[in-house]
Amino acid sequence: MVSQNAILRRAVAPELRGWVNNRLISAHIRIVRAMVIGTLFNAAVLVACLWSRVPLLELALFTVSAIAACLHRQWLAEGVARGRRQKRADKMALAFELNSLWLGLTFGVLSLRFFAQVGPDGKILMAICALAQIAAAAYTIRTLPRSASIYMVAQALGLGLGLVQTPSWAALGSIAVLASATGLLIRMTHTAHDLFVTRILSDRELGSTTRTVKLLLNEYEESGSDWIVELDPTGNLAKVSARFARAAGEPAAILDGRSFVDLFAPGDARSRLAEALAARRPLRNELLELAFGAGTESARWWSVNGRPCYESGTDNIAYRGVISDVSSQRLAENRVRHMAHFDSLTGLPNRALFNQVLTEVLDERQDPSGVALLLIDVDHFKTVNDMYGHPVGDGVLREIAARLTRTLELSCLGGTRQMIARLSGDEFAIVLSDEDACDHAVRLAELLITSLDDPITIDGHELNTAISLGIALAPQHAAVMQHLLSNADIALYAAKNGGRRMWEMFAPGMDEALHDRHTLARDLRHAISRGELELFIQPLVEVATEAMTGYEALLRWHHPTRGMVPPDQFIPIAEETGLIVPIGEWVIRTALAEAARWPGGQAIAINLSPVQFSSPNLLPVIVQALAETQLDPARVEFEITESVLLHNSEANIEVLNRLHSLGLKVALDDFGTGYASLNYLLTFPFDKIKIDRRFVADLATREDSRAIVSAVIRLANELGMCTLAEGVEEPDQLEHLRQQGCRMVQGWLFGKALPTAAYHPVAITPVLQTALRRQA
Ligand code: C2E
Ligand code: CA
Ligand code: CA
Repeated sequence: MVSQNAILRRAVAPELRGWVNNRLISAHIRIVRAMVIGTLFNAAVLVACLWSRVPLLELALFTVSAIAACLHRQWLAEGVARGRRQKRADKMALAFELNSLWLGLTFGVLSLRFFAQVGPDGKILMAICALAQIAAAAYTIRTLPRSASIYMVAQALGLGLGLVQTPSWAALGSIAVLASATGLLIRMTHTAHDLFVTRILSDRELGSTTRTVKLLLNEYEESGSDWIVELDPTGNLAKVSARFARAAGEPAAILDGRSFVDLFAPGDARSRLAEALAARRPLRNELLELAFGAGTESARWWSVNGRPCYESGTDNIAYRGVISDVSSQRLAENRVRHMAHFDSLTGLPNRALFNQVLTEVLDERQDPSGVALLLIDVDHFKTVNDMYGHPVGDGVLREIAARLTRTLELSCLGGTRQMIARLSGDEFAIVLSDEDACDHAVRLAELLITSLDDPITIDGHELNTAISLGIALAPQHAAVMQHLLSNADIALYAAKNGGRRMWEMFAPGMDEALHDRHTLARDLRHAISRGELELFIQPLVEVATEAMTGYEALLRWHHPTRGMVPPDQFIPIAEETGLIVPIGEWVIRTALAEAARWPGGQAIAINLSPVQFSSPNLLPVIVQALAETQLDPARVEFEITESVLLHNSEANIEVLNRLHSLGLKVALDDFGTGYASLNYLLTFPFDKIKIDRRFVADLATREDSRAIVSAVIRLANELGMCTLAEGVEEPDQLEHLRQQGCRMVQGWLFGKALPTAAYHPVAITPVLQTALRRQA
């Protein structure tokens, strides 16, 4: 037999034991009233039948004890029921056990005391009474098995001992039957108790699960982002909740009975949903766009999960599912997808999308249609960024993108497949697929160039911009994307080299020109170590005295196979590759060493590339060369171009100041060719302004050139700067400049750029001989 405590210990968690005991006691007290009434009734019958057959006092004692025990039990039960007795469950159980002992003994002692004294009818009554009470207790006290056992054993013992006093075989048999019946009934109470405990525990578990589910459902309905949907067998909405109605934007009453499928925008997803519902298939993460606001920014998206219901009693519900609003998620996904394919500045497709489309267009091309690829680069865009800052630069790119897009749209005929994209910084591309792709591309290129003729105004700045274009065709120039792109790039390069603001169509020889440039760059790398570089000098002449007061150092490259390469060809390559830094250092050292040998103390002018300004070696090299040559710094003049003032201007002006502080001079070269206005003369106290030779060449023919030259000379004189006019070839030009107050000139009128020995004939070298012969 398993005891109540053993069961509880084994099966019930310690924190649950008190709760289980309380439930056991509660189950008993619900039946205490019946037990008490039954017991009092039995006691009354016994008293009535035994009246005058047994001593009155003892009978009265029995009556009082029975009534008192019954009332006590009732009192215990009522106390628990009304919550008056908040005692611990085990204490209550003990109280019921003591009451059972009291009640059991009251009846047991009655049987023990009078069974032998009464006649056969009295014996029958007492035996039946005792057995009925034992049997009744097996039911009424079954949830408190210890209490029941005490009660039964006490009564059975009393009756058994009463039977012992009347020795007979029947009495002995009765004792045996009584003992086995009592034992069996006690066993039953334990079994009933165990069953009861098991049931209340599983009820409790079920209860908590239900509560959790209810809680979750409530949360779903009230605060969650998901909600439940139920459909009837025809696919119509059933039992529409308030939250569902709110989410769908219509009152529940109107939605009830409406077709679920009709809530969504027509399309593949909706058809799939309708099919799944008709076939009664489960729905898994079906993504559907609500019909309301479909296709717009405010479109709503639902993710639907559900399964068909087959259980009975589901109130005619055929489907039950959960819906989540995934609109914001969807919106975010769309944004990310958009960002992956579109440029955020201009809104145009980006390189990834362009490459994808270009590949498709090339793959799908069918004769006789052709594909044209136009690569577009904004001329001098870096200068715009440097001069006006990135916000203005961005504005310029946006406006250029808008003009290019508008021109493309206006120019394209029906049947043409076209796309424009921003590939990077200031690089755009257009792809056209058309029977007439070649003509179309050329016409479009012209239109695109002229679309930028009107200046762009950003933040009050009026900016003149231009583009260069390279065009390559498929299948004529290339059939695959990479090849077509690189051919268009070669054509673009040619357009830029050809003077910008123009387009070039790819031609087979063009890549050779590019290749040529690459080999030149490779050869330049070894030019210094192989002694292929030489400095020529050209006189700088004082207008008043026409004396050669100085010379400009001009670099020459004697290429082993190409002969003399002009600086206009190799200096840009040297700047692009960074080779200008070591070459420039060589120029500084050589020029200073050369000037140190001149007996007349003439000045030396040295050209500095903007790229050299980013080299930390620039100043140390100059200082070292000055120290080695002991040359007076006042004889050295560095010529810089306006671009030095544009790129990284603050740091560069700092370098210029350092040059000044060393006693060196600084000249502004090629004035008038760049972006600089006269205002630029105020950014740094230049010692000299060199007026570009273009203005000098046009002096005789163009009024505006004359105006510019005289304005520059006047302003420079006012600022105390020396003016030098370059490219003076004619005496008339010199005369005009003299009249305008120009202080210095340089040009073929006084001498070309020649080897130093031509002007300082220390020794006549073979090179000098040739040069002198050529000049003659
Ligand atoms: P630049 O500094 O403007 O040099 C003047 C250029 O004008 C020289 O060309 C010179 O030969 C040419 N020139 C001078 N007088 C006349 C004339 O009366 N008529 C004509 N038509 N041309 C004249 P060059 O020597 O070909 O140099 C071209 C450019 O290469 C230079 O222009 C300068 O920007 C660059 N360069 C030359 N040497 C160096 C150097 O050592 N370092 C750097 N960074 N650039 C250099
Ligand atoms: Ca120069
Ligand atoms: Ca110049």
